[in-house]
Amino acid sequence: MQNKSFTEFVDSVRNASNLVDIARSYLPLRQKGKNFWACCPFHSENTASFVINGEKQFYHCFGCGESGNVFTFVMKMENLSWYDAMAMLAKKANLEIPHTEDNQEWLKMRQKRDRLYQALMLARDFYCRNLFLPQNQKALDYLHQRGIDDDLIKKFHIGYSDSWQGVVDELKQHGISYETMYAAGIVTKSDDGKRVWDAQFERVTFSIHDVYGNCIGFTGRTMKKDDNIAKYKNTAETLVFNKSNIVYGVDVMKELSRNRHTNGLIVVEGNVDEIAMIKHGFVNTVACMGTALTKFHAGIMKRFGENVYLCLDGDSAGQKATLKSIDTLQDAGLMVKVIVLPDGQDPDEFLSTHGTEAMQKMIDNSVGGLEFKLNYIKQQSDLKDKVGKTAYLNRVVELLINVPNPAERELYLKDIADTLGIEKEVVRNTINLRLQPEEKENTISSVIKSHNNTKILNNNNINHEREEKVIRGFLYEQPYAKFDPGNEITFNNPIFQKIYSQHLKLNEIDDKLDEKELQEIAALRDFNQELTIEEQEKEWRDCYHGLLIEDWTRKKILAIKNGDMNEVNRLSLLIKGKKIIKRSTEEYANGNKTN
Ligand SMILES: [Zn+2]
Repeated sequence: MQNKSFTEFVDSVRNASNLVDIARSYLPLRQKGKNFWACCPFHSENTASFVINGEKQFYHCFGCGESGNVFTFVMKMENLSWYDAMAMLAKKANLEIPHTEDNQEWLKMRQKRDRLYQALMLARDFYCRNLFLPQNQKALDYLHQRGIDDDLIKKFHIGYSDSWQGVVDELKQHGISYETMYAAGIVTKSDDGKRVWDAQFERVTFSIHDVYGNCIGFTGRTMKKDDNIAKYKNTAETLVFNKSNIVYGVDVMKELSRNRHTNGLIVVEGNVDEIAMIKHGFVNTVACMGTALTKFHAGIMKRFGENVYLCLDGDSAGQKATLKSIDTLQDAGLMVKVIVLPDGQDPDEFLSTHGTEAMQKMIDNSVGGLEFKLNYIKQQSDLKDKVGKTAYLNRVVELLINVPNPAERELYLKDIADTLGIEKEVVRNTINLRLQPEEKENTISSVIKSHNNTKILNNNNINHEREEKVIRGFLYEQPYAKFDPGNEITFNNPIFQKIYSQHLKLNEIDDKLDEKELQEIAALRDFNQELTIEEQEKEWRDCYHGLLIEDWTRKKILAIKNGDMNEVNRLSLLIKGKKIIKRSTEEYANGNKTN
């Protein structure tokens, strides 16, 4: 009974949330007939291949293959779990989530999170008030000396902790328990758990917010001149504070760039750099707190445009973080540029010595991700002798063979040739040789290479989505989803693999999977019922065959390595014989013609 009412509730949220309206709040849409088109928010493109079918309430991208309904759309745009996306839409539609058996765990978790947010917000405001008390003038002076005026202090909610117990007493007055204070990372506790004290004592507190404006923690800068004390101290990891997910200043950036057209973000490393950039009018800046960017960061950044300008520190750690971040961001479909400041300066130093205009020039002269990598390799290479030169050539060729556009490759040839003191033609030939391996039937290297090349072209997202669709068919026991003994497939996702090999059904997974696994596959519960059964079957088969071919190709490579030529030939025939029927753009966009 209760389950049914929750399902009904989810349906009512779905009915109240028009995908076209929701999508329009993120993307400019253009209507053509019954459909709405936009440039895809999930991959980088210049012409619109992302289509929304308003009648059937689903979206599909012909470029990257992403598709789904209003729940998956919000999940992806906001980086939320299925449940949180549903809750967000429910809130928008003024629908209150009912307490039922199957959402109790989640409600408990959400209430716990809300308590942490409340405690952190109270602590934040307490620190902010403290900073302006006369006895804390030295902390205020410190900020002023760093060029952070009162206006910026308020914008960024900077504060100061002047006692061990102040924040504890303040929160107690508001009915916050020690347990919550500790869970929020606001206090540290004694080994016996009986005493608690402020984790940021005698530190200037830089408040950190998430993209929704919740305070999630602090970075404290010590006021003591003691080398034994860490200069900066972050809130410990908590339910809401995870260092690799933080986008410092995202709240301020959002507020300031609300009515401005910005096509992307500038990313700096530390909080002082962030504040300096905002101060100088670069309002579309956020900071990543000294780590390489993660997929999570990329997801947030995508909401603010398709470009990201990286301006991390010039030291070796910063350079390495830049290299890593370029790949992560590009994999997420973002265009990456790198701002290289002279003499290893950070943005705060650069702005205070050279000013706003000079910084704008540095942004205008930013280099592409590939160019940055090529320059980096050059700097790292010892070009004095032949061994060093050969190593350099190998590394740059390795990079360039992954650039699909020959014209783009061509742009870098001259510089590489000049660096080595050789003819451009030689570099070009070296690359071409690598691109066209000798056509020897079934030699190990040629098959592995050609496989690697297709792998590069294959989008990871497409694979994940394929797996998800195939496994969903099994879970929901759809008539078309049949286990095919002898043609088993292997899933990249270990949870999917478990469901597949144990033949788990929807009503069994709650018992067979643990809490974490269930959370990870929450999206599976969202079954796209807008498609007709024929469309579902076709989609499922396409995905299944795609996975099957991948699997055969993997097995073929293994067979080659093992020298089992019979198996190689058998698999080659299977792969050749299997044709994937690709649905045409038009057929899909028009929905089901038989309707
Ligand atoms: Zn796309």
